[in-house]
Amino acid sequence: MQIGKSGVYVYYPPPTGDVCSNTVVIDGKEKVIIDPGLRHLWPILERSIEAETRIAPGDFYLALHTHSHPDHMDAGALLEDRYGVTQAMSAEEKDFLEGEGRSLFRWMGLDYPSGTVGRILKEGPLELGDKVLQIYLTPGHSPGSVCIHWPEEKILITGDLIFARGFGRVDLAGGDARELVGSIERMASLDNVDTVIPGHGPSIIGRGQVEKNFRTIFDVLRNGFL
Ligand SMILES: [Zn+2]
Repeated sequence: MQIGKSGVYVYYPPPTGDVCSNTVVIDGKEKVIIDPGLRHLWPILERSIEAETRIAPGDFYLALHTHSHPDHMDAGALLEDRYGVTQAMSAEEKDFLEGEGRSLFRWMGLDYPSGTVGRILKEGPLELGDKVLQIYLTPGHSPGSVCIHWPEEKILITGDLIFARGFGRVDLAGGDARELVGSIERMASLDNVDTVIPGHGPSIIGRGQVEKNFRTIFDVLRNGFL
């Protein structure tokens, strides 16, 4: 599904019963795939992407992981091994993946991914040919989670920081409730967000809906989350 005329596409996982993230594709000179999801669902996703955008897997310049949880990044190693796509995540998340986070793959019944993190994401601008995205370090759900903002198109991609009427769990290894709240507050204060694309569930479309969703989340937080 395309978001407006932005060249940003969202793919919700097929209804297989697997816990798998949404995937975002950003078209342009340097094409990016964000959170490619579970490896065994990749063939379905690949067909959907090609049918809608005509982008082939080898066209991607980066596979950008909002965080290292298996349901978001499992297919990254396949993209790297088979198509030479560079995988990217924050340094904090790479350290987590190689340490405590490793066990989450076993927990989900998956093999630890064979690939490498070829590019480190830092907070600040990420230049992609004809566009500049902004990376924000937003820990809480995991130590090195990031959100990706495209100010020109007013789109914010949040991984598992926030969802429609909810926010990411903090009970997994590396989770931190106070950091999560701080990260949500930071993202709520951004200008230029008319669309929020979370890592799971529906997108939040329209400035009014985005503001309402942050109000709902803060209500839940105030009612005893901390
Ligand atoms: Zn997650």
